[in-house]
Amino acid sequence: MENLTPHWPSFVVGVVGAATMITVLSSLRGRPPPEDQRRSTPQELETARLRSQVSSLEERHHQQMEFFVNFPDLVKALTAAMSIGQVTAACSRGLSALLRTRNVAIFLADTATNLRLVDGAGFPAASRNQITCTVEHQHCREVLTRRGVISCSQQLRKMLRTIGVDAVDAASIWHGDQLFGMIVIGNSQGDSVTVKRILAMVTDLTGVGLTAASRIHRMRREAERDALTGLANRRTLVRRLKSELDRTLAYDTHLSLAMIDVDNFKNYNDQNGHQAGDEALKGVAQAISKVTRRTDLVARYGGEEFTVLLLGADPQQALMHAERLRQTVASTPFAHGHKQPLGVVSISVGLATAPMDASRIEALFEAADKALYEAKEQGRNRVVAYSGPKLTDSARPIDPGSSITGEDLRRALALED
Ligand code: GH3
Ligand code: MG
Ligand code: MG
Repeated sequence: MENLTPHWPSFVVGVVGAATMITVLSSLRGRPPPEDQRRSTPQELETARLRSQVSSLEERHHQQMEFFVNFPDLVKALTAAMSIGQVTAACSRGLSALLRTRNVAIFLADTATNLRLVDGAGFPAASRNQITCTVEHQHCREVLTRRGVISCSQQLRKMLRTIGVDAVDAASIWHGDQLFGMIVIGNSQGDSVTVKRILAMVTDLTGVGLTAASRIHRMRREAERDALTGLANRRTLVRRLKSELDRTLAYDTHLSLAMIDVDNFKNYNDQNGHQAGDEALKGVAQAISKVTRRTDLVARYGGEEFTVLLLGADPQQALMHAERLRQTVASTPFAHGHKQPLGVVSISVGLATAPMDASRIEALFEAADKALYEAKEQGRNRVVAYSGPKLTDSARPIDPGSSITGEDLRRALALED
């Protein structure tokens, strides 16, 4: 395959050479073309030849100047991108500007097998996000199995035309040994070797950008999730609760908070070991998630405590759901459930609903906590809804970033004084 890796020095020399030639030859421009080629003198023919050379050099020069103007912006955009969407958008914009093409299509492998059209220009809006082919598809494989730019085969062009994508050149996007997908461009201005070199460069940079963006995505996910159960962690819960509470109050609706605590869990650990305890916590997390709507939020609050945010749920609906959670856990088989004081692994649930029990996040937690305490007092394996007066404030502000309560913090600061 033709070596299309970028050759910077020769590329730069090309620009300077082109500029010099243009200066020398541009004096020939402006003379009228010969009226009749048959009567052209050798001098006129030479002039015509030089004029065409000037215009092609001008074109090349223009393209290369455009490269120097746009390329740094593209590098900046690709390396500063924080998400995969930002990388593909920068790549699409960059290729359109550098190659002056209307047709760019960026496909990413969204699973190990599917190639999805995620970004670009010059194709119908309906084609966006469609799975176009599988990685194993013969016409895609001819691009994906090679590292570098190739001219699209007739079959690949035909296949892409069915989704409205015009394809002339294609390149697979790799970084190290990870394959991300492919970029396809349609007709572009400029000579084909330069076009392929620019496409190769931009594709390489896109691979770098996608690698960084995927790492950021993974880190964000890890920061938002609890490592043992995979549920949202406390930080995520508090953030989400803050925004949902604002919405609840603004739209005059309800939001319920279920605080869940596994009963006699110390006993489970003591009897069966910490490892078995971890397995039981995963089992409780799965049981709670299984019966909760995807739009609600299940979180591990800490230790053997979980929280469910029930969006739009009034006290009655919250009570029904909490009872379902309790029954589901109590009827889930756990390896050592029979050794528990109640004969099964069970949970107690405390419920509070905004805006009737509290309108502020700390107060809502406090109300749910009081109800949970009551459920424990009444014998465990039960649901209790908060029934006291509306709580307006709390002595324990919630800090989403740490498990230290505001009260602990104030005490610590007082000791330092
Ligand atoms: P109660 O019914 O009153 O809630 O009793 P309990 O035994 O569940 O409550 P207690 O607070 O005395 O004990 C909670 C136990 O949960 C103690 C702690 O070791 C255990 N625990 C907390 N986090 C984890 C964890 O990540 N893994 C395991 N295996 N155990 C944990
Ligand atoms: Mg507890
Ligand atoms: Mg407990």
